[in-house]
Amino acid sequence: MEEVAHAISRYKEELETYHARLIAISKTKPNEMILKGYESGHRDFGENKVQELVTKHESLPKDIQWHMVGHLQRNKVKYIAPFVHLIHSVDSTRLLKEINKQAQKFDRVINVLLQVHIAKEETKFGFDEKEIRELFEGEVLAEFNNVKVIGLMGMATFTDNVKTVESEFAFLKELFEKLKTYELPNVEMKELSMGMTNDYRIALKNGSTMIRIGTAIFGERNYG
Ligand SMILES: *Cc1c(COP(=O)(O)O)cnc(C)c1O
Repeated sequence: MEEVAHAISRYKEELETYHARLIAISKTKPNEMILKGYESGHRDFGENKVQELVTKHESLPKDIQWHMVGHLQRNKVKYIAPFVHLIHSVDSTRLLKEINKQAQKFDRVINVLLQVHIAKEETKFGFDEKEIRELFEGEVLAEFNNVKVIGLMGMATFTDNVKTVESEFAFLKELFEKLKTYELPNVEMKELSMGMTNDYRIALKNGSTMIRIGTAIFGERNYG
């Protein structure tokens, strides 16, 4: 378990030159492992399931910054709205609307990233470029005063083909830069969440500001 702290510090060292941040993805892993990272000074952890995120939030130190990175159903937003630090996986305007509604109830502004569908796989969630432009050029976004869109998130195709992954991340970076030119009240494009254990180096070369690492920190997941 000491490995957790070591792995985190290795990543942080590597990230310094990129001015990028590490989100340690602790899904399926026990609190004791998360605490090893916490005790070494790390505060940003991420989960992909609402129930697990809530349970861990309740039982771990309250200054942990919790990131929601998995697909989020609208009817579950209320459970994480009081405390979530950043939602990476906003994949529809309807979800954004619900996050705004719940954030309002708790009198807070929730930071979010829009997930963009960049992979070839059908199964990955997310907006496409056209849908994001519609959102940015439409009227509704300005009404969502309790959310702030601070960037984009993307997951590349799961493949060994570096060129494919590279072109998907480059596409997302380009879209990110284009979206920076919109001047909108609830938008400040500054974070680009891309890169996981197997592709984070390619992501960093393409402008990632947040990498989401699970396996390389906590070990393989056992879904038994
Ligand atoms: C699980 C997960 C990660 C971490 O993946 P690893 O390959 O274990 O580093 C990153 N992002 C999302 C959205 C995930 O669900």
